[in-house]
Amino acid sequence: MRKVLIGEVNTFIMVAGLLFILMLVFAMPTKPRMWLYPLVRQAVQIKVNYEARDMATYETAHFRIKYAPVDADTVSMIGQAAEAAYQPVIETLQYAPSGKTLILIHSNKNQLRQAFGWSGNESAMGVYWGGTIQLLSPHVWLNDGESVEEFIHSGPMVHEYTHLVFDHITNGNYPRWFTEGLAQYVEYRANHYEWITADNVLDNRMYTMRELEDSFDELSNQSLAYRQSLAAVRYIAEVYGEDTLQDVIKSLKAGDSLDKAISKNAGIDYAVFENSWKQWAEVHMNKKTEK
Ligand SMILES: [Zn+2]
Repeated sequence: MRKVLIGEVNTFIMVAGLLFILMLVFAMPTKPRMWLYPLVRQAVQIKVNYEARDMATYETAHFRIKYAPVDADTVSMIGQAAEAAYQPVIETLQYAPSGKTLILIHSNKNQLRQAFGWSGNESAMGVYWGGTIQLLSPHVWLNDGESVEEFIHSGPMVHEYTHLVFDHITNGNYPRWFTEGLAQYVEYRANHYEWITADNVLDNRMYTMRELEDSFDELSNQSLAYRQSLAAVRYIAEVYGEDTLQDVIKSLKAGDSLDKAISKNAGIDYAVFENSWKQWAEVHMNKKTEK
């Protein structure tokens, strides 16, 4: 079992100090914020790693999975799904983070809620946070008889690992909707998986770009907000090309706002972009068989 090599008090002071910086970070100009961001992310990783010090560890080539005994029978499946996610994600984003990625398995919903301070009914199969991937045990949500293939196809690994790699590339310089769109885009490409519900048809009820940007998490129809995010990213990749999507990511890495990154690389005014992707999405994304 791996242990962090520093004492508990030092860890606490360091994490508290860096979390304080995190609060300042959100009021800071882009460049210094992007410079500090990896330090904060690393502090979170140290904290999570320390809190999981008594848990068992299962290692694969690129991941280190921490789990409780009750989830021991799921770790080899999670390891396989994580490794299956690795290649498509680093190929699409053209970047591989160094070292092994920490995956922490929470045995039940309460544990996951506690870890993130969620008070209500919030739940998720997976969460990307501070350089770590935290999963709800497949015991809770995988139906009996479902296979590793099912877990690879519709499980959270490609999605969460995309968030992680993109976060490493851009050091936090992105709005939430864009990372959600990108994570779904890689799932769509790698696994042909799309989150389609009865409530997320892309029609004239779509949220405005402003709503997606300012209050993504508060929007009442989350499945629609997610579907729209995928639509905007697919529009860039499929109409302007994969290279343009890469260029947008490079611009974010260089510190541009998303608005500037898109208008510069796609040569389209941001206001026009909104109308264009919505029109495109209505035509190309409302048929389930559409590819
Ligand atoms: Zn996500």
